Amino acid sequence: MITFVDPKRIDRQLSQLSIQRWELVDQIAFTYNMIHNAIEDRMISSTRWALSDSAAEAALISQLIDTASSPRVSECSEILRHLLQLRADLFDLDETFSRIEGPYYEHPWPRTFVDRTGTIHAAASCDGLPLDARLGWLPEVSGETDMKAAGGRSSMLCTHCLPQFP
Ligand SMILES: [Zn+2]
Repeated sequence: MITFVDPKRIDRQLSQLSIQRWELVDQIAFTYNMIHNAIEDRMISSTRWALSDSAAEAALISQLIDTASSPRVSECSEILRHLLQLRADLFDLDETFSRIEGPYYEHPWPRTFVDRTGTIHAAASCDGLPLDARLGWLPEVSGETDMKAAGGRSSMLCTHCLPQFP
């Protein structure tokens, strides 16, 4: 049996999932901030806590064990429960993502992404991007071999991953 693979349809789904994924990642970061606050961790710069996220989580858990009768126990255990739920959601989302992306790994097709500056990339793992770059997908041109189909002027094409289009 031959299954018809539609790159645009698959990448449209993955595009939506990747937006949901960033939302979950942001919620997890926000929850970790609540944990750092709950254990009265201190900030060592405007964005960094003294403890790592996992150390802060471990500290909160041991506080819960040591002070099981304190009035803040229900608040702290609620934060932990929320974190566990978000992590489970992220795990499920990643499983779904991998399942839907399966056909791409069997027979990859051209893909196009856009960064915050509007520059178009052929790979989410492009060397020209910072590691934490959040890219938009352009699923409507997935599977197209002509990069000009990405609708970009050549000045908008990344010189790292699309150097063949000067
Ligand atoms: Zn690039």
